[in-house]
Amino acid sequence: MRGLKELWQIFEERFPDTGLRKGAFAAPGRVNLIGEHTDYNDGFVLPMAIDKNITMLAQLRDDQEVRAYSLDYGREVIFSLLDLEFEKEDFWANYIKGVIDEIKKMDYYIQGMNLIFTGDIPIGSGLSSSAALEVVTAYTIASLNDLDIQPVEMALLCQRAENNFVGVNCGIMDQYISRLGKEGNALLIDCRSNEYELVRFSLEDYQVVICNSRVERGLVDSEYNQRREECEKASRYFAERLDHRVLALRDVTVEELEKEGGGLEEITYRRARHVITENNRVLMAVSALRKNDLETFGKLMTESHYSLRDDYEVSCPELDLLVELALKQKGVLGARMTGAGFGGCTVNLVHKDYIDDFIANVKKAYDQETGKDMEIYVTWPAAGARELA
Ligand code: ADP
Ligand code: MG
Repeated sequence: MRGLKELWQIFEERFPDTGLRKGAFAAPGRVNLIGEHTDYNDGFVLPMAIDKNITMLAQLRDDQEVRAYSLDYGREVIFSLLDLEFEKEDFWANYIKGVIDEIKKMDYYIQGMNLIFTGDIPIGSGLSSSAALEVVTAYTIASLNDLDIQPVEMALLCQRAENNFVGVNCGIMDQYISRLGKEGNALLIDCRSNEYELVRFSLEDYQVVICNSRVERGLVDSEYNQRREECEKASRYFAERLDHRVLALRDVTVEELEKEGGGLEEITYRRARHVITENNRVLMAVSALRKNDLETFGKLMTESHYSLRDDYEVSCPELDLLVELALKQKGVLGARMTGAGFGGCTVNLVHKDYIDDFIANVKKAYDQETGKDMEIYVTWPAAGARELA
């Protein structure tokens, strides 16, 4: 990554000084530690911010124009705040326009600006580079225009930008953690109430290691919709049988599943079992963190993987291989796929003394068996969106 000084040089070479307010801001990507496919079942997720970010430098203009330069694509897009059109070619501009659109809908007055941005979050690998881009854009605009947008409000407007302008039907997790993340903490989010709580995540001698399978998430959309339907089916089934309100699988306990689930088709039963046990695992993982019990935390991560692999069936051979290889290494407390599945990354809890061996062994075996060039990122619970000095 280029340093801030170098980035300002690039900025100044591209744009004349307007004499107006300027600043540099960053927002992180994230990894979900546990709680997969629980969000659309009104359940719990537990992501943390990673030390990979999108950095944006910007200065206000005295007109309504936005000039946005993506360093990583080497492209500049120019548009007016008054005329936000969806871009097919420079797709990244839609995240910026979407955020502007949502801020305007909230009746804030904003000025045009010149901006450049760059990032080191791998794109499309499930570490949520898109949310980081939205959040850093919102943070930049709010800061330079002195808008009083509360953190949760900002996360939600970024989610709406992705839903409405970009057209991706995402939940709240990615924008929440990118905006609300704090160094040394994971973030427990209740996807029913949108309430959240920072949970101290003290790694001590461990690090969070992310393995990027480099498998493109292929089938994801149709499989995703199928899973959602199966969950709704299971939820309706329990709503008819249980004597309390069931609005989503969040409302069904493991005991109720075991006692009353016999009438479900086998496949629907397994889908429900994943969601119900996964919600439990998130809450158990949070209590483990509160006791500084990383061993239990790691075991829950691994159980989550097996549940995603066997019951929910959203893993793939490469992710399974990465988890299997990881669990054979010394100093590993847990390993699981993270994100929607069918590709993307795994997340592992590895003792720092064994990280070099972990990287060498897992990469060698994985690359040999799959012919892919795996990438590894060693990280920790990092900071959320912020202004850079
Ligand atoms: P992810 O899982 O990383 O969020 P998405 O497909 O949701 O994957 O979002 C990736 C998109 O976000 C890219 O296609 C691009 O438009 C935008 N993006 C992410 N990072 C950058 C970057 N560093 N520079 C420009 N655009 C970016
Ligand atoms: Mg995304």
